[in-house]
Amino acid sequence: MHNANLLKTIFFALLFNFYCGLAQTLEDEKWTYNKILPFSFEEEAIEVLKYYPELKATYIRFQYKRLPDAIMQVQPTWWSLIFKKKENRKYKIFINILPSIDAPLESFPKNVIKGIFAHEYAHIVYYQQNSNIRLILDFIRYPINCPFKKEFERNADIIAIQHGLGVYLKEAWQYTGFDANLSDVMKAKKRFYYLSPLEIQKLMSQYSKKQ
Ligand SMILES: [Zn+2]
Repeated sequence: MHNANLLKTIFFALLFNFYCGLAQTLEDEKWTYNKILPFSFEEEAIEVLKYYPELKATYIRFQYKRLPDAIMQVQPTWWSLIFKKKENRKYKIFINILPSIDAPLESFPKNVIKGIFAHEYAHIVYYQQNSNIRLILDFIRYPINCPFKKEFERNADIIAIQHGLGVYLKEAWQYTGFDANLSDVMKAKKRFYYLSPLEIQKLMSQYSKKQ
């Protein structure tokens, strides 16, 4: 009798576990629609995506690429930027591959990766709200106009904070600006162009008061 009860308990525990696993998989599948996610960071990419319901149906493809001075970079595909309406644009998030950065991204703390995703998704939210012409002009100004680049990057941080992701941004700034095994130039750029933890904290308090 005692054994029968034990078996029953184990059976229901396994069933419950299976049910939770299935529910989680189905929930994740809703968020993977139109997404080609990075193999190494799939979990983090989905977790952060859940803060951006407006990107649920947006086509986003992660792709590994050598980038001269960035960890990740996001842009609409040129084809969709020129020929599609903004609602139908497709986006690519490039993830830098070695050896253009000194440390494999797999060695970064998970929260830092989430902070970087939070920032990249925020760019897509901005792209979605703006016309093709406006974005083309932005992309021309970005590499040549330092104050514009700073405003552009900080605006993405603000969008990420508005979506409740300030905590991850702070960790990403600290790590990529000081602790990571990146070049000094790259670390200095991170500290210069993005919102500092103090600024992030201030905005987080402002937005939480408004809610
Ligand atoms: Zn950015």
